[in-house]
Amino acid sequence: MSMPSIANLEPGRDAKRCPVCHSSMNRIPRRLVDFALCLFKPIQRYRCRSITCGWEGNL
Ligand SMILES: [Zn+2]
Repeated sequence: MSMPSIANLEPGRDAKRCPVCHSSMNRIPRRLVDFALCLFKPIQRYRCRSITCGWEGNL
């Protein structure tokens, strides 16, 4: 039984996708208020690379 290894290979396993347009996103530095929140709940802030979309938020 052979497994299609290429099909399971995900480029950039920690790469998040935009929830709106599913484009790749850039991880951006947290703001001060986010840093305060991070003390209680670890969050990552992302911004969509699509100019037309421009989604930004915490995931
Ligand atoms: Zn987007």
